[in-house]
Amino acid sequence: MSYLSIKNLNKYYKTTNQPDFHVLKSIDLDLDKGELVSIIGESGSGKSTLMNVIGGLDSDFSGDVVVGGDNIANFSQKDMVLYHKKKVGFVFQSFNLVSHLSVLENVSLAMTLSNVSKKIRQERAKELLEVLGLKEQLHKKPNQLSGGQKQRVAIARALINDPDVIIADEPTGALDSETTEQVLDILESIAADGKLVIMVTHSSRVAQRSNRVITIADGQIKKDETFERHFKKGFHVAAKADQTVKQLSLFSAIKLALLNMKEKLSRNILIALGSSIGIMSVVLMLSLGKGVNDYLNDQMQKNVDPTIAEAQMPVETSTSNGDDEQPDLAGPTSKPFAQSDLDKLATIDHVTEVSKAYSNFSFGGSALTYDDQSYSFMNFSTISAIISPNDIVAGEMPDDQTIMINQSLAEKINQDDPDSLVGQTVSMVLTVDTKQITGDFKISGIYNPNGPSAGIAGALDSVQFTYDHLKKLYEDNGLELEPNAAYLVVDDRQHTDQVKQDIKSLGYSGGDADILADTFSQMIDIFTYVLTGVAGISLVVSAIMILTVMYISVVERTQEIGVMKAIGARKKDIRRIFVSEAFLIGLFGGLIGIGVALLLTVIGNNLIMDLFDTTILHPTLAYLLFGIGISIFISMIASLIPAYSASRLDPVDALRHD
Ligand code: ADP
Ligand code: MG
Repeated sequence: MSYLSIKNLNKYYKTTNQPDFHVLKSIDLDLDKGELVSIIGESGSGKSTLMNVIGGLDSDFSGDVVVGGDNIANFSQKDMVLYHKKKVGFVFQSFNLVSHLSVLENVSLAMTLSNVSKKIRQERAKELLEVLGLKEQLHKKPNQLSGGQKQRVAIARALINDPDVIIADEPTGALDSETTEQVLDILESIAADGKLVIMVTHSSRVAQRSNRVITIADGQIKKDETFERHFKKGFHVAAKADQTVKQLSLFSAIKLALLNMKEKLSRNILIALGSSIGIMSVVLMLSLGKGVNDYLNDQMQKNVDPTIAEAQMPVETSTSNGDDEQPDLAGPTSKPFAQSDLDKLATIDHVTEVSKAYSNFSFGGSALTYDDQSYSFMNFSTISAIISPNDIVAGEMPDDQTIMINQSLAEKINQDDPDSLVGQTVSMVLTVDTKQITGDFKISGIYNPNGPSAGIAGALDSVQFTYDHLKKLYEDNGLELEPNAAYLVVDDRQHTDQVKQDIKSLGYSGGDADILADTFSQMIDIFTYVLTGVAGISLVVSAIMILTVMYISVVERTQEIGVMKAIGARKKDIRRIFVSEAFLIGLFGGLIGIGVALLLTVIGNNLIMDLFDTTILHPTLAYLLFGIGISIFISMIASLIPAYSASRLDPVDALRHD
């Protein structure tokens, strides 16, 4: 049996409206290795269609095409890929070289697709190029070569995996007579080397060089003439060990993508720049949110002893409907702490001491009399960690006999010289539930907590006692002082945040300043997410941009995709090359985006620093990584559809495309 045996091959082209077009009609043909076969016939007679069937580019036919014992009519996709890689090589009239790859890279492309090592691949390609007289052209790009040279490169590419069959569809159609002879010499040598060479030609002069001329007309074989020819032996370049079974590596895909991107450098820079804008805005917005949050937290905590964490009992929501009860005029006074609560708080890691505190809020129930004038105040409490020695503007902290008043109350009593109240004695009425505590007290000092950290104590007129002092006053009046706040002393300021979290996870609230900070933080978080979301809209724009450019790229590279399929690229390989390209665009866009964001951060922070003595943009490593990650993700997602449509291109259509 012949090496290539075609039995009863029929093929129809689907046509709209008209009945299907019967392009190949019951073809029977036997060809053998060592033959140089010319297929001649008028244009439109079906020559290229026959070549595409034999070459495994077109599987839509009926009949048998047996090559080396295997019927390609029964091939799976995988078999077909291997067939392209090992058995058959193509040479086209229009060369179909990949323009952004060098001569060497074009020739070794089939081996790159098979993940052959660079060394072996280049050795083999150089060997072939040398025997084909292209030793000097290895690193040129196809557009720097003459037609004859291009066709020799294409022949080298077809020979790279040492196939048994070379299919050449009008290989000399675009060449002058001199280079035509060169190419024919080479094809002759290939046949002499024991391969089957099938070439389509229009020229009888070209046909004369072959040992067999098959005439096709109207999809049928009309004539099959054999001639006695002696083919000159030219060269023999055997393949190295079988290297055709592996698949395109990710690394090679990225390298191929890089080579293509380099070719269209300015376009790719523009896309990367375009997509970087979105990334930059997102990173800046996140950094701004963090900056504002940091600033507020900083302000909140500035005047608070950093080694003290406050705990309060959680405020319980009232279950009464309020109709039959007196409206409760007391402020947000929390439930008292039981000893068990204090013990529980003491078990938190890094807490060295838990001290009790009490704060009372009432509307108009408490008042102070000085110089026969009465001044009401809303809050009295025990000295708390909220007040640091720095906050004392006159006098000193109270002892167990004296009291301290805040600046706003002091100014009400003596607008002109509030400090003169230090050392003065005032009489006071404190209202606790329904009872009243009265007495005369000496003022030890005046304090003025500033900043939001002062919380409620800073905003309201307020009087401070030591805990023991107030407890004794309560007891003298038949009352019991129950702590409604606790201050936890932390061993090291770096553990304070952790302790504050533990307080919350045990079910208690933080101090007023912490609660305020949390509320602000939540608001800023929402604000940050909204801003980031708005900035993120530009990411959609860049996704659409990348999608469009990828589609254009697929159209531009249709021929190249056809060639790659003809030399054994799988769908997956084609997708991989396009997705790699998107990955690189995403990576570059992300890097530019965070680079610009960092630059703007430095500039912006310097400006704000000059004006307000603080920084407001706080990028973190996580934001930067997120920026790059999202950039890569979006551009890869955007590339999926174009990559998929590229991988699905029909090689025959793709190769016809120009
Ligand atoms: P040749 O290579 O001998 O010039 P082809 O094999 O390219 O001829 O085409 C044979 C016939 O099939 C022509 O009439 C052509 O118009 C038709 N044909 C080729 N490709 C298609 C196709 N994809 N769909 C429909 N008709 C086609
Ligand atoms: Mg043709």
